[in-house]
Amino acid sequence: MAVTEEVRAARDAKLDELHERLTGAVEMLVTGQDWARALAFAARFRSRSFNNMLLIWIQHEAAFGAGRVPEPMPSYVAGYRQWQQLGRQVEKGQSGYMIFAPVTGRFASSTPADASSWRRLDPREKPHPGEVVRSRMVGARPAYVWDVSQTAGDPIPEPPAPTLLEGEAPSGLWDGLAAQVAAAGFTLLRVPHEGMIHGANGMTGWGARQVAVRENIDPAAQVKTLAHELAHVLMHDPDDEDARQHRGIGEVEAESVALMIGAAHGMDTTGYTIPYVSTWAARVDGRDPVQVVQATGERVRKTALGILDGLDTVQIANGTPPGLIRETAAPERSSRASAPMPERQTVTEPVMVGRGL
Ligand SMILES: [Zn+2]
Repeated sequence: MAVTEEVRAARDAKLDELHERLTGAVEMLVTGQDWARALAFAARFRSRSFNNMLLIWIQHEAAFGAGRVPEPMPSYVAGYRQWQQLGRQVEKGQSGYMIFAPVTGRFASSTPADASSWRRLDPREKPHPGEVVRSRMVGARPAYVWDVSQTAGDPIPEPPAPTLLEGEAPSGLWDGLAAQVAAAGFTLLRVPHEGMIHGANGMTGWGARQVAVRENIDPAAQVKTLAHELAHVLMHDPDDEDARQHRGIGEVEAESVALMIGAAHGMDTTGYTIPYVSTWAARVDGRDPVQVVQATGERVRKTALGILDGLDTVQIANGTPPGLIRETAAPERSSRASAPMPERQTVTEPVMVGRGL
C-alpha cells in the first residue's frame, strides 16, 4: 500500500516548514557569541544532528517564552513512545518539537565494491542469493520530540555531572586528549611560554608531526588549547583534499570543537574566540552561507563526538534520557507501507545540509 498523495503532500508541507524554520535559526547565528552559544547547546544535545539541535533549541525557546515549559534550557528530549518506554507520558496540551527523522532505503548488490551495481529494494523485496544488503538514508520525514519537562511519570535517574572550579581542568581530560594526539601519530610537547610558538597558546606542526602547548597558562586554558590542536590534527591534514577545502574556516572549526569538548565537561565557554559568522561562512566558494554554517556545525559536532566518545571522563548528559536505547534509523516501510504517517515515532538523526537529502 502506497502513501496517499494527500499524506505525502502534508508531509512535504511539514518538511518545507521545517527547512524554513531551520534556515531562520541558522540566520540568527550572527556574532561569534551566537555561534558559541549554539555550540554550547550542541554539546548538551550532541546526540542530535546540528540541524535538529537548532530546531530543538528554537522551539524550546518559543515554548519557554509562551510559558509552556519551566526552564529556558531543555535537558532530555525524546519521542512520544520513547517517553512511554521510560514510564513517562507527554502531558496534555504539550506540543512536541518538530525535527527531521531519516527515512532509509535498502539497497542490494552482488558486487558491493562496484558503486553502480547497487539496486534499491522495494520495502518487502528479498535480495537475491549472494547479494549484500545495506541501508542508506534516502530522505527525511518530520518527527516530534518532547522535553522531559513536558512529560510526567517515573523519575529520570540523574547521571553524575562534572563540577569544576575556575581555571581547573576536568579530571582525566588532558591525558585523554594527549592519548588521542599520540594515537594520531603526533608528539606532544609542553613549552614554557608563548615566545617559543610564535606567541600562540598552542601549535600543530604537520612537517614534524608535533603538537605544542604552552605551560604558562592555567590548566583549563591548557586543556582547551590541547583540544583545539587535536581538532586540527584530526580535521586539517594539509595533504587531505577534503581538509584543504575547509582550510579557510579551520580556526573556527578547531576552536568550535574545543568549545564543545569543554562544554561537555562543564567548563566555562565564555573564553573562546570565534569571529562573526558572516566573516567565515561567506568565504567558501559558491556555497550558500546558510549551508556553510550547517556543514561546519555538523563537521564540528562529529569531530567533537568522536573525541568525546574516546575519552574516559565524566561528561554532561548528551540530551538522550538515561536508559533509552535509540534506534539508528527509521525503516522505509514506516513511511511507505502504511498511511497515515506515524508522527509520534522513534526519532533518529539525519545528516542534512540545506535541502540536499
Ligand atoms: Zn588553531
